[in-house]
Amino acid sequence: MTDLPPSFYATAIFLFGLAFGSFLNVCIHRLPRERSVVRPRSACPQCGEPIRALDNIPVVSWLLLRGRCRHCKAAISPRYVFVELLTGLLFLACWLTFGPTLWTLKFCVFAFLLLGLIFTDAETKLLPDALTLPGIVLGVLFSLLVPADGLVTRVLPWLGTTVLAVPWRLISLGNALLGAAVGASFIYGAGAIYLRARGIEGMGFGDVKLMALVGAFLGVKLTVFTLFSASLVGSLAGLSTILMVWVKRTERRRKRNHESLPTARRRAWKSASMVYRHYEMPFGVFLGTMALVAVFFGDALIRWYVETYL
Ligand SMILES: [Zn+2]
Repeated sequence: MTDLPPSFYATAIFLFGLAFGSFLNVCIHRLPRERSVVRPRSACPQCGEPIRALDNIPVVSWLLLRGRCRHCKAAISPRYVFVELLTGLLFLACWLTFGPTLWTLKFCVFAFLLLGLIFTDAETKLLPDALTLPGIVLGVLFSLLVPADGLVTRVLPWLGTTVLAVPWRLISLGNALLGAAVGASFIYGAGAIYLRARGIEGMGFGDVKLMALVGAFLGVKLTVFTLFSASLVGSLAGLSTILMVWVKRTERRRKRNHESLPTARRRAWKSASMVYRHYEMPFGVFLGTMALVAVFFGDALIRWYVETYL
């Protein structure tokens, strides 16, 4: 690094992230529809008018056009700005955490793939192979460049690890492969149990491949962290959904049908649990989000948990 101020690099990486986020929006829209992400140029989904280069500047264009198509004035989802900003901020966070190392590159790639998967899952309940499969390969390849489990190797100086090149690469590769196996088989097993217990498919092969990707990037320890924290957060989200529906329906029954409180509660509970039975939770959203949390806070959270409860 030369005499340029540190803020120059931080700004550059943030803008770089915005541009990648913009491309990610195209992926999120087109991959579930099995269309090319390269051609044709972006067009308004409403009127089909191609979007001019000047109207395609991340964040800025959306704000200037007040979230509408210049041509037909159809509303453009705020998701576009949200994904761009989030990609920019995650790239910046990688840079601030890992500095000018291959770690930064590795986790920028990881964040890019996960954001694409999280938002595609949230919108379409799909986790496209076009993101998961190359992601698994990239995760395994990165394990040969950057140690897959940070805890031990990060405290050793970079030079020391490069001198011992052969052993750490093998250990790291093993860790990535084992992480992928642990992640994928846990989800596969959980999906099988879920199918038996509830009679509907709760987790598809998309989630299995997603966790193979996460495992390849994070190694065993942080993969286990991701699985448990995502299950916890996912359960809490499911529970609060059912409680919210219950409370709302109880009130509605009391107002509309003039039922007594116990009757309204009992009947509302029945319909709320019916809703829950048929509600498909986008579990990939929770897995992906907690995998990102694991990158920055996983080690600290595990340490906190061990010190507090064990
Ligand atoms: Zn339009």
